[in-house]
Amino acid sequence: MGRVNHVVVVGGGPGGYEAALVAAQLGADVTVVDSDGLGGSAVLTDCVPSKTLIATAELMAEIGEAGELGIRVGDAADGPSADLNRVNARVKDLALAQSSDIEGRLTREGVRVLRGRGRLDGPQRVVSTPAGGGAEETLEADAVLVATGAAPRTLETAQPDGERILTWEQVYDLDEVPEHLVVVGSGVTGAEFASAYNALGVDVTLVSSRDRVLPGEDADAAEVLEDVFKRRGMTVLGKSRMQSVVRDGDSVTVTLTDGRAVVGSHCLLALGSVPKTVGMGLEEAGVVLSDAGFVEVDRVSRTSARGVYAAGDCTGVLMLASVAAMQGRIAMWHYLGDAVAPLDLRKVSSNVFTAPEIATVGWTQNQVDSGAVDVESITLPLAGNARAKMQGVRDGFVKLFARPGTGILVGGVVVGPRASELIHSVSIAVAESLTADQLAHAFTVYPSMSGSVAEAARRLHRFGS
Ligand SMILES: Cc1cc2nc3c(=O)[nH]c(=O)nc-3n(C[C@H](O)[C@H](O)[C@H](O)COP(=O)(O)OP(=O)(O)OC[C@H]3O[C@@H](n4cnc5c(N)ncnc54)[C@H](O)[C@@H]3O)c2cc1C
Repeated sequence: MGRVNHVVVVGGGPGGYEAALVAAQLGADVTVVDSDGLGGSAVLTDCVPSKTLIATAELMAEIGEAGELGIRVGDAADGPSADLNRVNARVKDLALAQSSDIEGRLTREGVRVLRGRGRLDGPQRVVSTPAGGGAEETLEADAVLVATGAAPRTLETAQPDGERILTWEQVYDLDEVPEHLVVVGSGVTGAEFASAYNALGVDVTLVSSRDRVLPGEDADAAEVLEDVFKRRGMTVLGKSRMQSVVRDGDSVTVTLTDGRAVVGSHCLLALGSVPKTVGMGLEEAGVVLSDAGFVEVDRVSRTSARGVYAAGDCTGVLMLASVAAMQGRIAMWHYLGDAVAPLDLRKVSSNVFTAPEIATVGWTQNQVDSGAVDVESITLPLAGNARAKMQGVRDGFVKLFARPGTGILVGGVVVGPRASELIHSVSIAVAESLTADQLAHAFTVYPSMSGSVAEAARRLHRFGS
């Protein structure tokens, strides 16, 4: 038998635990050092809790629109309302259960889980300090994977107090529905929470520093979403940069840089994330960090220090749980000599869990507009789809990008209910370099929303090509 490789993973989120599973599968001796609970922020505070909250919000929104489908749901006084205590208790229970499932799986696969804060002592040694005190443990490693994630960004002038001024990690401790929630930041996280709380019956103001919501996403999709937000009674303040947030008793005042003030009962800060890379001995071990503190990695997750890999939000490559997990797996496949393809961001599909959802894969409209890629495109509104009409769905579209000449699909956007599921066929096409004709020729169920994906692909067919 060959020599056993010792792998130490610092951070137990998707970047860390997925890597640990691969390393264990490939026969390594693996220890995960984690400070806050397996599953990381993804499971305990970010992705899983927010999507659980959104599941409740979706149901509320559907009930709200049930009248159009002929269902009587009562007037405003006895209509549906959210019991936020129960919603939040469910969110937290589900997150903890998911975390313990992950811990159980790791243990069963023979991975050692160490509760503590890890730091590097050179590139081949990790020191773990238990959270509640106790003796430090030093772990010798042939390879180290840093997957410590990121934390909500706050400002000197906008400090969360956990009661009225909140980060996205703190909203699940609210015990009553906010009267008026001011969401600062209109990126994916801000838009998702604004959409969810609006559906739960909260008066929401969304403060966006740019001229539209979701500045990083497809502009046509963002426009649909902003229209829906406004139609549902949300106040969307564009070109409004927050200067400070101050609490005064039961109210919060968000002051904008142009002097305007927005007063609400609660404020949610969605200002992006900062990497957790400080004080971990990274630079001392030869790991190069960017100016913003992210660990610099190549496409097989190698850092500048030999034997030290990094994955997930601490690298800032693309802050998604799916990407973190893939970076972690790639690191271990690479280190342990398995077959590995470098990370290809153009194959990543992602979703904004607003109502409607916005799902994307491959090349984006921004890249098309900047001339980075030459495509033919088609945008097909969902409103013409028979299933959409039956379900009372009016908002949304399918957009596809294909290379001229070959017709190979290189990207797509779906806006609509469950767009996160609908994008998968486009994602397969992009991953496997299928042509629009190939996507169009596969049967879809009639009637179905996916019929619009096939129809869009059919419209990209050019006679004679
Ligand atoms: C509100 C919100 C919603 C999101 N929704 C989605 C979504 O729907 N889909 C999606 O794909 N992505 C989503 N994301 C992004 C996703 O949560 C992150 O990309 C993902 O958590 C990154 O995983 P990670 O392993 O890099 O880090 P994390 O999940 O942050 O895990 C890192 C872990 O390491 C621990 N740690 C940190 N420092 C140390 C140390 N020194 N020693 C030991 N342990 C340490 C941390 O405490 C944490 O537990 C969302 C993010 C936010 C903020």
